Amino acid sequence: MAYQKIQPQFSKKTCRFCEQRIDYIDYKDVKLLQKYVNSIAKIDQRKRTGNCPKHQRALAQAIKRARIMALMPFVNR
Ligand SMILES: [Zn+2]
Repeated sequence: MAYQKIQPQFSKKTCRFCEQRIDYIDYKDVKLLQKYVNSIAKIDQRKRTGNCPKHQRALAQAIKRARIMALMPFVNR
Protein backbone atom coordinates (compact mmCIF):
# COMPACT_ATOMS: atom_id res chain seq x y z
CA MET A 1 0.00 0.00 0.00
CA ALA A 2 2.84 2.36 -0.80
CA TYR A 3 1.01 4.11 -3.60
CA GLN A 4 -2.72 4.56 -3.67
CA LYS A 5 -4.23 5.54 -6.97
CA ILE A 6 -6.12 8.81 -6.79
CA GLN A 7 -9.27 9.06 -8.84
CA PRO A 8 -8.41 11.54 -11.60
CA GLN A 9 -10.74 14.40 -12.39
CA PHE A 10 -11.02 14.91 -16.11
CA SER A 11 -13.96 17.28 -16.06
CA LYS A 12 -12.02 20.55 -16.36
CA LYS A 13 -9.42 20.67 -19.11
CA THR A 14 -8.62 24.35 -19.44
CA CYS A 15 -5.18 25.70 -18.66
CA ARG A 16 -5.33 27.82 -15.51
CA PHE A 17 -2.25 29.84 -16.48
CA CYS A 18 -3.70 30.71 -19.88
CA GLU A 19 -6.97 31.78 -18.26
CA GLN A 20 -5.19 34.11 -15.83
CA ARG A 21 -2.66 35.18 -18.49
CA ILE A 22 0.37 34.18 -16.41
CA ASP A 23 3.51 34.05 -18.53
CA TYR A 24 6.14 33.37 -15.89
CA ILE A 25 5.52 30.83 -13.13
CA ASP A 26 7.35 31.89 -9.99
CA TYR A 27 9.31 29.08 -8.33
CA LYS A 28 8.96 30.88 -4.98
CA ASP A 29 5.18 30.47 -5.08
CA VAL A 30 5.21 27.11 -3.30
CA LYS A 31 1.49 27.18 -2.53
CA LEU A 32 0.71 27.23 -6.23
CA LEU A 33 3.30 24.61 -7.16
CA GLN A 34 2.07 22.30 -4.41
CA LYS A 35 -1.22 21.92 -6.29
CA TYR A 36 0.57 20.36 -9.23
CA VAL A 37 2.44 17.58 -7.45
CA ASN A 38 0.95 14.34 -6.15
CA SER A 39 1.18 12.84 -2.66
CA ILE A 40 4.75 11.62 -3.13
CA ALA A 41 5.84 15.01 -4.54
CA LYS A 42 6.05 13.94 -8.17
CA ILE A 43 4.99 16.41 -10.84
CA ASP A 44 1.49 15.70 -12.14
CA GLN A 45 1.13 14.80 -15.78
CA ARG A 46 -0.71 17.11 -18.13
CA LYS A 47 -3.69 14.76 -18.26
CA ARG A 48 -4.32 15.53 -14.60
CA THR A 49 -3.39 19.21 -14.44
CA GLY A 50 -5.13 20.16 -17.68
CA ASN A 51 -2.38 22.62 -18.57
CA CYS A 52 -1.29 23.42 -22.10
CA PRO A 53 2.15 22.11 -23.20
CA LYS A 54 3.80 25.53 -22.88
CA HIS A 55 2.64 26.08 -19.33
CA GLN A 56 3.21 22.48 -18.26
CA ARG A 57 6.85 22.83 -19.29
CA ALA A 58 7.18 26.15 -17.43
CA LEU A 59 5.52 24.60 -14.39
CA ALA A 60 7.84 21.58 -14.38
CA GLN A 61 10.83 23.92 -14.63
CA ALA A 62 9.51 26.02 -11.72
CA ILE A 63 8.99 22.92 -9.55
CA LYS A 64 12.51 21.68 -10.33
CA ARG A 65 13.92 25.10 -9.37
CA ALA A 66 11.92 25.08 -6.13
CA ARG A 67 13.34 21.65 -5.30
CA ILE A 68 16.92 22.81 -5.79
CA MET A 69 16.25 25.86 -3.63
CA ALA A 70 14.91 23.43 -0.96
CA LEU A 71 11.42 24.96 -1.05
CA MET A 72 9.87 21.67 -2.10
CA PRO A 73 10.80 18.02 -1.53
CA PHE A 74 12.25 15.80 -4.25
CA VAL A 75 10.42 12.82 -2.84
CA ASN A 76 7.91 12.53 -0.03
CA ARG A 77 7.89 9.14 1.64
ZN1 LIG B 1 -1.42 27.55 -20.82
